[in-house]
Amino acid sequence: MLATTITTSRAFGFKFSLPFLIFSTKTHMDSPPRNLFMSSVSRSPPREAHIEDTGDGIISLQEWQGWGSVSPLPAMVNQIVGDLKALETKTDAQMSFGGIGGKLQGDFKVREDKKHRATYQALGDSGKKLQFFAARQIACRLLGSRGYLCQKCWLAMEDCMCSKVKPCTLWHGVRFWLYMHPKDFLRQNNTGKLLWQVFGVQSATLCLFGIAEDEKIMWDAFKHAGKSKVWCLYPNKNAVTMSVQDTFSPGSSANLEDTPVMTDGDKTLNFVLIDGTWSNSAAMFNRLKEQAESAWGEEDIPCISLSMGASAMHKLRPQPSWDRTCTAAAAIGLLSELQLLPEFSSYGLDEQAEAVEDALVVLLEALTARRLRMGRSITRKLRHNRDIC
Ligand SMILES: [Zn+2]
Repeated sequence: MLATTITTSRAFGFKFSLPFLIFSTKTHMDSPPRNLFMSSVSRSPPREAHIEDTGDGIISLQEWQGWGSVSPLPAMVNQIVGDLKALETKTDAQMSFGGIGGKLQGDFKVREDKKHRATYQALGDSGKKLQFFAARQIACRLLGSRGYLCQKCWLAMEDCMCSKVKPCTLWHGVRFWLYMHPKDFLRQNNTGKLLWQVFGVQSATLCLFGIAEDEKIMWDAFKHAGKSKVWCLYPNKNAVTMSVQDTFSPGSSANLEDTPVMTDGDKTLNFVLIDGTWSNSAAMFNRLKEQAESAWGEEDIPCISLSMGASAMHKLRPQPSWDRTCTAAAAIGLLSELQLLPEFSSYGLDEQAEAVEDALVVLLEALTARRLRMGRSITRKLRHNRDIC
């Protein structure tokens, strides 16, 4: 297994900043040590960030984009990584990480907590606060996941599923944007990552909520495409949404002036998938609306809802509540519903939906195998559907 992982990783040219074998012990993120005292007795040792290995705590562009991003390394993330490193040198407390998402822990965490809370409080407006919050989350995740997670599939290297994921070309008339909450970045059970694993980062593009560089790339593309070519799949029943059929059938009430029969790349349909927990998604949607106002002069982003919803996922659902909150499932549902419309029936969208389904099965198997290997009940997953989405 280890040999396979290394071979696969090398074949894809991943950049590891740490010797692989340091992490060959059964480190896990699911039930982390929560404090210094626990960590000394835990069977899950904290991970230490040996960022000296890459020279002064620098995150290179190659490392940043290796995780799936298309943006330049965000300036604020870079600054926070530098600040963390400086704090480590100054206080002589070594950075260590553990827990879901690679949270800071131990003595360093106590010191850093004080410092970042003070910085946060001193920031005036909520936009700046969000940017700082997002950049700090991401900086910690980047450092905590280094050498531990596979950059492509975001699973622990010992669980790497990359060799089992089959790439597929998405029809050029569709582009997905994974609008991801920083807390979902580098989460092993995130499903949004599957979309660019399958379709590539140009067809399914990551945009991190609160990261200025990412949001600029997405909104530049939306401004170029025009408002009639951008939709948000927002699974909130309170939002005003249109069905796929209402939106895309010729003669439908939507887009009367610009009925979307897509034949060339300039008329790409852009779909925003909100990739965050239920409780975070409202703030993310509100930010989209604010940015829509500065782009188009009206605080409105067209929303569409899926009529098939969870039913398309039936064969994949060992648990009844794994449905629309699952980002990959939303993409599958959308492609499947578009396929049913005559205008879209010749682009192979059904096969493209199936490719994501296959990847989702692979992810589910990898997560289940991990759980079993660690001697945990897989039924826990049935009760906590958020574990997989
Ligand atoms: Zn992998």
